[in-house]
Amino acid sequence: MMNDCIFCKIIKGEIPSAKVYEDDKVYAFLDIMPVNPGHTLVIPKKHSENIFDTDDGDLKAIAVALKKVSIAVKKGVKADGINIGQGNGRAAGQAVFHLHFHIMPRFENDGLEMFPQKKYREGEMQQVAGKIKSFL
Ligand code: 5GP
Ligand code: ZN
Repeated sequence: MMNDCIFCKIIKGEIPSAKVYEDDKVYAFLDIMPVNPGHTLVIPKKHSENIFDTDDGDLKAIAVALKKVSIAVKKGVKADGINIGQGNGRAAGQAVFHLHFHIMPRFENDGLEMFPQKKYREGEMQQVAGKIKSFL
């Protein structure tokens, strides 16, 4: 499965990509179907499926690269802002199962919409926080 991974092939150069950044742990390249030009994917060189199984050291390296590359993308395409996002699991819209962070350039009035938001019922917020904290 890992051998069939499209992003592993991109890192190895078996599939061409528009690379913008690389270091010993991280690779960054343009998304082939951008929300806006300059949309960049930042991935660990070592394969992991998503946030649930990735290596902490790789994740730290990705965090630092996200800052560096976001600044360059913002300047490079003269963006007004940047969204950073990513999905973990099919239900979250993950299509490629090699961890990746999207750096998405945004422009004033570019017409893109964020997620719709919900409301908590009375007391529900504390209850949900308690359930999450029980696993930390
Ligand atoms: P996901 O939906 O898993 O968060 O995002 C996967 C992203 O990978 C999509 O935005 C898609 O356009 C991008 N993508 C899929 N295949 C390729 C490819 O072969 N090359 C590049 N550069 N991007 C790809
Ligand atoms: Zn992979």
